[in-house]
Amino acid sequence: MKYREFGKTGCKVSSLGFGAMRMPTVEIDGKKVIDEEKAIALIRRAIDSGVNYVDTAYFYHDGESECLVGKALKDGYREKTYLATKLPMGHVKCAEDFDRLLDEQLSKLDVEYVDFYLFHALNRDHWEKVKEFGLIEKMKKAKADGKIRHMGFSFHDDLEIFETIMEEYDGCEFCQIQFNYLDTDYQAGIEGLRLAAEKGIGLVIMEPLLGGGLVAPHESVKACLPEGMSTVEAALSYIWNYPEVSLLLSGMGTEEQLTENMALADKYEASSLTKEQENCFIEAKKAHAKLGLIPCTGCNYCSVCPEEIAIPEVFSAFNLGASEDRRKVKEAMPDIEDRVRKCADCGACEKMCPQNIEIRKMFKRIRDSF
Ligand code: SF4
Ligand code: SF4
Repeated sequence: MKYREFGKTGCKVSSLGFGAMRMPTVEIDGKKVIDEEKAIALIRRAIDSGVNYVDTAYFYHDGESECLVGKALKDGYREKTYLATKLPMGHVKCAEDFDRLLDEQLSKLDVEYVDFYLFHALNRDHWEKVKEFGLIEKMKKAKADGKIRHMGFSFHDDLEIFETIMEEYDGCEFCQIQFNYLDTDYQAGIEGLRLAAEKGIGLVIMEPLLGGGLVAPHESVKACLPEGMSTVEAALSYIWNYPEVSLLLSGMGTEEQLTENMALADKYEASSLTKEQENCFIEAKKAHAKLGLIPCTGCNYCSVCPEEIAIPEVFSAFNLGASEDRRKVKEAMPDIEDRVRKCADCGACEKMCPQNIEIRKMFKRIRDSF
């Protein structure tokens, strides 16, 4: 495992972090829940192999992720790893909610403190909330009280808001942004990445595989990737190539994924790709842009839909034939038109989407396409 400086925090983190967002599941009474035994074994194996950053959040796995991570970190594992979790900004309705939620999280994790605490998914609205309720002071107080060690944020909005937060967030030590070879000018993008690094802000990268989309990209994209690399190797090596990056988070749901990712983390370091290989990613991005796919990562944050439309499943089916072949879409989801017609136009899903997808507009696009 390779380790990198984490901004000005004074910590050295493994270049591969364990993201506890997509863990192995098992079906009980028709409901998918975390497969505890497998998930705990995976986290512990990652830590035993040198991973020293475990990332969770209040919302992950319908609130079960923090409890699971807490169990995984028993038996001496807490002392071997940094632990990160996030304040659920959507649940913050007043200043006092900060302490209530942090205490609840510490209790679920069953720990005295977390090493890294993030405002979760900051965007324009959430940033206003941070300022209105004085949450930066709350963060500082939590740090002084020993409940958190370092303060940061994760981010989903455009570059302008990212720049504002960088300017105004006093005491910020690290941030978590979405970045991969397709998203170089999306959300914070390369410009945001460089700005954070200039300020000595540690950088955590999320969505390195775009919710799994870069594991099996369209053939035209795959054909552009550097020769001899698997799709996963290409995507992860692209991120590690940036010296500004401290670590990337990968949601490893199986032993095989963990083994593959750890081998890659051993292999790649900053600036290890050739110019020729770097150019491959520029071509891959151009090929992807021609496909016109809906940029859904399958995070399922939009599961608030009162009509119970499985939005990520709809988008995933549509993306199979978005650029040309509608038959593929119908094969994957024969009732796709009926599903999108159920939409009651309430907009609740769009408020939750970290990718800022105009979901209703996309539904119209799907309807119009048939
Ligand atoms: S806008 Fe449509 S898809 Fe979105 S939550 Fe409302 S009913 Fe569901
Ligand atoms: S539509 Fe948005 S919120 Fe829903 S799964 Fe896709 S990326 Fe996530």
